[in-house]
Amino acid sequence: MAYKAEYIWIDGAEPTQKLRSKTKIMADDEIPGIWGFDGSSTNQAAGESSDCVLNPVRVVPDPIRGGANKLVLCEVLLTNMKPHPTNKRAALVTTAKKYAKHEMWFGIEQEYTFFDGIKPLGWPDNGFPAPQFGYYCGVGADEIFGREIVEAHSDACMVAGLTIAGTNAEVMPAQWEFQIGPIGPVECSDEMWLARWLLYRIAEDFGVSATLNPKPIEGDWNGAGAHTNFSTKQMRASYAPIEQACRALGEKWELHVKNYGYGIERRLTGRHETAPWNRFSWGVSNRAASVRIPWQVAVAKKGYAEDRRPNANMDPYTVTRLITDTVCSYAEKGGK
Ligand code: ADP
Ligand code: MN
Ligand code: MN
Ligand code: MN
Repeated sequence: MAYKAEYIWIDGAEPTQKLRSKTKIMADDEIPGIWGFDGSSTNQAAGESSDCVLNPVRVVPDPIRGGANKLVLCEVLLTNMKPHPTNKRAALVTTAKKYAKHEMWFGIEQEYTFFDGIKPLGWPDNGFPAPQFGYYCGVGADEIFGREIVEAHSDACMVAGLTIAGTNAEVMPAQWEFQIGPIGPVECSDEMWLARWLLYRIAEDFGVSATLNPKPIEGDWNGAGAHTNFSTKQMRASYAPIEQACRALGEKWELHVKNYGYGIERRLTGRHETAPWNRFSWGVSNRAASVRIPWQVAVAKKGYAEDRRPNANMDPYTVTRLITDTVCSYAEKGGK
């Protein structure tokens, strides 16, 4: 029987790229191949030469339509088959290949917030809910809003074969998190974009929107980040390379912060479990540091580090590329 392939791609929206998708009906034995779209409607082309190319990079079962239907994550190419300027994946693939022998792994914690119209889901029409305290990993209808969507989303990620590692309710009510990884940089980033698409698509059926706004509510409410955990083969074997990676990130702190998501200075204030965006720090167990070495890593003397700076609205292709480049190039220069 014929099936549906949902072609998913990343547009040219500024300052933060958005997901788009459209449906292609496929013959039962047809394998998803290249396709096109109107780039003039996605900030990816001018009207007079509007065609852009969709090149499939990852095909997974479609957990929403079920059956033989597929989700087809694509990269965007120009009609000469070169990467489109908005295609951040191509540069990551190059960097990942260059440093393949370091066997980089990433685990990304994606925080997000459910909105019901103009207010976070479950918030009162006027005023605010009780101050932050009981919500993080909470239970009960007075503290938890949207769990049925979170459950449907994690089930969908599992059916799609994504490497989802877990979910939890966050510090601000209506804020949640899921984690992808640990897997290679390209795989982790592709899966993160697919998981984001599934989140928006599933919340749609509940009449709810999910947002990656890094600071959805000003004031005494936590922002939303995308803590990026990473390790090289060496970091997974001993401790000195972990400290070396932290120093490497310190040397390039400004390049990283500039590319960790729009509005980062609104979130990295030095309050609400963040370090100030312009003062790099690292430490064991420290959730007020830019980069944290988890306590169990310090005890085991091997493992990984957590870059706590990336915003929820970061591009995983860009963030994993920068970390791979900074950490691996520093290691190859002998930690100098
Ligand atoms: P926390 O909320 O305490 O910061 P989480 O449990 O939400 O931590 O996320 C930790 C993430 O670290 C997990 O998603 C996992 O994928 C990732 N991780 C675990 N081990 C490694 C590793 N060796 N390299 C990279 N990432 C890792
Ligand atoms: Mn977490
Ligand atoms: Mn979190
Ligand atoms: Mn974390």
